[in-house]
Amino acid sequence: MSANKKLLILPGDGIGPEVMRQVRRVIDWMDRRRRVTFDVQEGLVGGIAIDHYGVPISDETMADAMGVDAVLLGAVGGPKWDNIGFDKRPEAGLLRLRKELGLFANLRPAIVFDALVDASTLKADIVRGLDLMIVRELTGGVYFGEPRGIEDLPDGQRRGVNTQVYTTSEIHRVARVAFELARKRQNKVCSVEKANVMESGLLWRQEVTALHKAEYSDVELSHMYADNCAMQLIKNPKQFDVIVTDNLFGDMLSDEAAMMTGSLGMLPSASLGAPDDTGRRRALYEPVHGSAPDIAGRDLANPIATLLSFAMMLRYSFDMNEDADLIEQAVQTVLNGGTRTSDIMAPGMARCSTSVMGDSIVRVLER
Ligand code: ATP
Ligand code: MG
Repeated sequence: MSANKKLLILPGDGIGPEVMRQVRRVIDWMDRRRRVTFDVQEGLVGGIAIDHYGVPISDETMADAMGVDAVLLGAVGGPKWDNIGFDKRPEAGLLRLRKELGLFANLRPAIVFDALVDASTLKADIVRGLDLMIVRELTGGVYFGEPRGIEDLPDGQRRGVNTQVYTTSEIHRVARVAFELARKRQNKVCSVEKANVMESGLLWRQEVTALHKAEYSDVELSHMYADNCAMQLIKNPKQFDVIVTDNLFGDMLSDEAAMMTGSLGMLPSASLGAPDDTGRRRALYEPVHGSAPDIAGRDLANPIATLLSFAMMLRYSFDMNEDADLIEQAVQTVLNGGTRTSDIMAPGMARCSTSVMGDSIVRVLER
């Protein structure tokens, strides 16, 4: 039906391999039913790579990551590798991947499934049906701007300095991601900064406005100050479709939005880089949660965050919206039927295992 889609799977450590096993079953289902052939490679990253190769990601695995259309990652790290030194620790593997793939846009959706409305920190009618996407600039801004540092002043005081810097091209490339995503969704972008008090924020607003006018005038664009956005997210989150913002505001607003959805075990993410010659963006998909050493190896973890990360991959790397919809609907159906891992269990419900959650989702897909 379609050309091979090249995919690198890096299960990693802790619950990573367990949750990834359930995703592999869904990939097998797609191979069978949709006649889509994925060319799937698997590799090691994190602690398991340290154990095998002495480094958190090998040059070979890095080269594989550069050669595929998309990377799907489980989680890295664990107590076994906690005292191993900064550059050698499992997380350094993930940092190398992000850096060498040039991933400058971090996508964090906040989706509230009907069955989990009560797990939200907000009232049911405010979040029911919520589906918003936060696009956070990931490689610039105050986290990296120069000058930075702590200096001694002549009068004996000390001064800590960070600098918020954004250039036109940094703003354009992340805004482009937001506009393109919006076209596949509700066609609405809200750009968030503090243009009233920050020069970088003022430039951000001017450049997003200019890009919109030049190339994306079909998309509905609005602007909002970050403090107001934090408030509006609590008050009426359904007014948003895609929010695009800088590194610092994105860090805070995406955590705020995450709390509306209930569990860490439900949250997917994507990080996108620049398009290559063929127009395909480099991309890494991973659950928001970590390796959860406290429950690893016990068939307890919720595989849904990783499965939804895979669905994001289908949607945003491969334009396979129908398949992404099918998977998200299957998750919805299974949750509605009361199948719950412990992290999303409500009183009176039976707890299911990682593999039973996988079974249930595949069974719905097979129908
Ligand atoms: P990291 O530093 O790698 O992000 P962390 O310490 O911040 O890790 P997680 O590993 O994400 O946190 O785990 C936080 C808590 O959430 C743990 O108690 C863990 O068991 C739970 N948790 C995380 N992911 C899942 C999941 N998929 N299913 C069930 N529980 C989970
Ligand atoms: Mg963490």
